[in-house]
Amino acid sequence: MSRSTIDETILVLNAGSSSVKFSLFAESSASAPELVLHGRVEGLYASPKFAAKDASGARIGGKDWGEGATLDHDGAVGFLLDWLQQQLGASHKVKAVGHRVVHGGTEFSAPARIDTRVVARLEKLVPLAPLHQPHNLALIKILLARSPELPQVACFDTAFHRSQPDVAQSFALPAEYAESGVRRYGFHGLSYEYIAAVLPQFDPRAAAGRTVALHLGNGASMCAIRAGRSVATTMGFTPLDGLPMGTRCGAIDPGVLLYLINERGMDARAMENLLYHQSGLLGVSGLSSDMRTLEASNEPRAKAAIDLFVYRIGRELGSLAAALGGLDAIVFTAGIGENSVLIRERVCRDAAWLGVDLDAEANRAGGPCIGRAGSRVSAWVIPTNEELMIARHTRATLRTSASRPILDPRSHGCNE
Ligand code: ADP
Repeated sequence: MSRSTIDETILVLNAGSSSVKFSLFAESSASAPELVLHGRVEGLYASPKFAAKDASGARIGGKDWGEGATLDHDGAVGFLLDWLQQQLGASHKVKAVGHRVVHGGTEFSAPARIDTRVVARLEKLVPLAPLHQPHNLALIKILLARSPELPQVACFDTAFHRSQPDVAQSFALPAEYAESGVRRYGFHGLSYEYIAAVLPQFDPRAAAGRTVALHLGNGASMCAIRAGRSVATTMGFTPLDGLPMGTRCGAIDPGVLLYLINERGMDARAMENLLYHQSGLLGVSGLSSDMRTLEASNEPRAKAAIDLFVYRIGRELGSLAAALGGLDAIVFTAGIGENSVLIRERVCRDAAWLGVDLDAEANRAGGPCIGRAGSRVSAWVIPTNEELMIARHTRATLRTSASRPILDPRSHGCNE
């Protein structure tokens, strides 16, 4: 599709503390949203840079503001909207914006059309995700102020997991804590929802049955999916729980935290820095959070970090298979899951007891099917596409909300 012939698009935004990632999808009523271009503005408030690529990965734009330039989120959005207009011509219109929003709490179990009431409800969830939610909300509010007529849709990383039984969402704490929101929410939901949506094309038996999806990136988690719905996941109240990650610790005995407070005198800020930024693959290896670097290293501590990562995946796989009452398929996705032959091979070999029978050749070739024909549990490599999931949700939410008054709570996709 030539960019100059595209009239209407859906802009997908993913805001972090110092970056805004974007993807633009062509919108036509006839076909599925189609990627036109994508990129990021990063280094906000310090050393801002912009880079964009077309759908084939060819570079189509770049800018470096230089060290010390103070581009903020508002400036980044303004720059991006102007750049898009230049790229796509005067007749082009961004029809709607879809946002990745980390936390939907218990009330948002589906995407929500944004208005000031929804923003107020999302603000209340900031204490549950203080490192991410404020940046997601900042972008939403900037666009509400700049273009109040532009439809915006919030798509939540937690929403897919709201189908889990209560028992899977509970901590064994006094009830008052659960009532005030201390419960397992789960994350990476847009990725798992995408995998669940495409799995029928690969493996209809597993799609109707029991699958564990492994989203292994810098952030890493696993999800038990039965007939397309989440029934359990490794991340909990925050994206710290479960697997060791690039720099996050994963599951940890809460007694360790008490020890760090009582014996090491650590305060909340020091603990946050340790658990979110100094642990995981980086902490164990002392070398890097990047799996490629660890795989290429001969350092014993790099090997120890990989061993722990694989071991924890194996333990969680057994646990999630128990939650499912059996297993029909495993699916690898995200940076490590899609690209690391070694990690997939080791995870599959350790899962032989569950019925996974790896086809080593197919694994080296990158799949999609990496299990032998006749394997009791099939094994797949399926690239995730959270941005496309957001574009689809944005389009569907607009269509639904167009037929309802905007203040109807049902149009926000929440459970009230
Ligand atoms: P994020 O969670 O930031 O989106 P990604 O999904 O991009 O992260 O995953 C990043 C991880 O994927 C890094 O640890 C990186 O080393 C790993 N990775 C990417 N390519 C490969 C590869 N070819 N082999 C091993 N690991 C890889």
